[in-house]
Amino acid sequence: MPSGELRYYACGYTTHQMKQLMHGRPRERRVFPAGVFLYCHPDGRTVLFDTGYGPATWRAGVAGFLYTLLLPPRIRPGQSIAAQLLADGIPVESIDFVVLSHLHPDHLGGVRYFPQATFVLSEAMLETLANAKLTEGFLPQLLPHWFPAAAKLVVDPGQGEVDLLGDGSYRLVDLPGHAKGHMGALVEEQALLAGDASWGEDLMGSVQQIKALPRAINHRWNDYEQTIRRLQQWKANGVKLYFSHDHQDHKKLL
Ligand SMILES: [Zn+2]
Repeated sequence: MPSGELRYYACGYTTHQMKQLMHGRPRERRVFPAGVFLYCHPDGRTVLFDTGYGPATWRAGVAGFLYTLLLPPRIRPGQSIAAQLLADGIPVESIDFVVLSHLHPDHLGGVRYFPQATFVLSEAMLETLANAKLTEGFLPQLLPHWFPAAAKLVVDPGQGEVDLLGDGSYRLVDLPGHAKGHMGALVEEQALLAGDASWGEDLMGSVQQIKALPRAINHRWNDYEQTIRRLQQWKANGVKLYFSHDHQDHKKLL
């Protein structure tokens, strides 16, 4: 059984007022880091899960401007995924796969650093890439010009888990609800990279308190609730959940 390494990087953050997000919360601005997870398989293959925020300057039109009012992106130069990998002695060219959990700006901002990688996307994300609705929160201007021609592996975890590395060490799982085609990754059956299936592990039990507007910006609310129930089962079975916007105390998770 593989015993690879799983590392965590916070690549910028945003803040949001919890009182706007949920009923019954005091005024408190919560910090949501943009988490990126690197899996290094013992055979040398590497898989990045999401890419965090890109550089601070956005040129993403009116929709981008409105997005920054709602969820202001904050990132310093040394916090990009490229800078942090380099600081760890990992060249960006050495990353084999970049899995995108979904296409929101805080997950694809660092795509630009990985022109050599194979991007792993769900089929439903291709539909968003081809023809996004404004409500989907996808800002095509944040993707690099070369992205349409980049190497891609298109998967459909909705039809069953996808064994990315062929030995069960890294399985892509369908976690529908938050965004169209949203997916996670089960690493060595111990760690579930759960993307934005919840905005935080501590919020999983308070789904009923989420207000109407934040509910509405999710893709499908029924699926969101059902995904939370599945995540709670995974947790009860001893799987550690890692959401994109939770703080992690340690860099090395596995
Ligand atoms: Zn999201």
